[in-house]
Amino acid sequence: MVIIHLKQENVEVELLWVAGHVDIPSNELADKAAKHAALEAAGWRQDEDQSIKTLQEVKLQIRKCVMADWQRGWDSQNEGRFTHNLYPTVSTKPMSTHFSRDVDIKLNRLQSGHTLLPSHAHKLGITNTDLCSCGNDVGTINHVILHCSNHTAARGTLITKVEEIYRKSNTPYHKRTVDLSTLLGQNQTLSTDVRLSITKATASFIADSKAKI
Ligand SMILES: [Zn+2]
Repeated sequence: MVIIHLKQENVEVELLWVAGHVDIPSNELADKAAKHAALEAAGWRQDEDQSIKTLQEVKLQIRKCVMADWQRGWDSQNEGRFTHNLYPTVSTKPMSTHFSRDVDIKLNRLQSGHTLLPSHAHKLGITNTDLCSCGNDVGTINHVILHCSNHTAARGTLITKVEEIYRKSNTPYHKRTVDLSTLLGQNQTLSTDVRLSITKATASFIADSKAKI
C-alpha cells in the first residue's frame, strides 16, 4: 500500500536487500521501536520488563500476554462451565482424554447429546428403527452406556474403574453414584479430579465397546 501511494506521488521506489540491523544505529532504533509496538499491542507496558532484548524474548512475552488474556476470558464467561470445570487451564494443546481422536469425538457427542445412536439417527431419518442392535430396547445414550447387553464386559470394566477412582480419592459414600451424568463427567457434586478420571474411564469404555456413537 505504501509503495502504491508513493508511486502515485511520482516517487520512485526500489527494493533492495540490506544487511541485518545490527550496528546500524537508525536500524537498531527502528528495530527496538517495532519490538515495543508489538509488545504494547499484546498488552505489555514498557515499564514492566526492561530486560527483554531478543526477538525470541519478545515472542515469549507476547505469548504470555495472549495466554493470560485467553485465561481471563475463559474464567469469566458464563457459557461452557462444564468444560471449564474439566479443563480449567487454557492450553494450545488439544483437550484430550489421551485416547484416539475418534474416542474423543464420541465422548464429546455423548456429553453434548448429539450422537449417531439409533434413537437419534431415527429422529434424523437416517435409520428405519430406533431399536438398538441388541434388540432389547431403544438405542438411547442411557441404554448403550448403562444397560445394553452388547457392552456388558466393557461396562463391567468401567464400573470397576469408577469404584477404584472413588476409593482412591476418598469420595464420601453418599456421592459415589454410577449414573449417566456421573459417567459423562457432569456430576457437579464430585471434585474436578474425580470427574476427569471418571470421564477418562468412560472414554476407555467407548474404545473397548466399539459402540457406534
Ligand atoms: Zn442395546
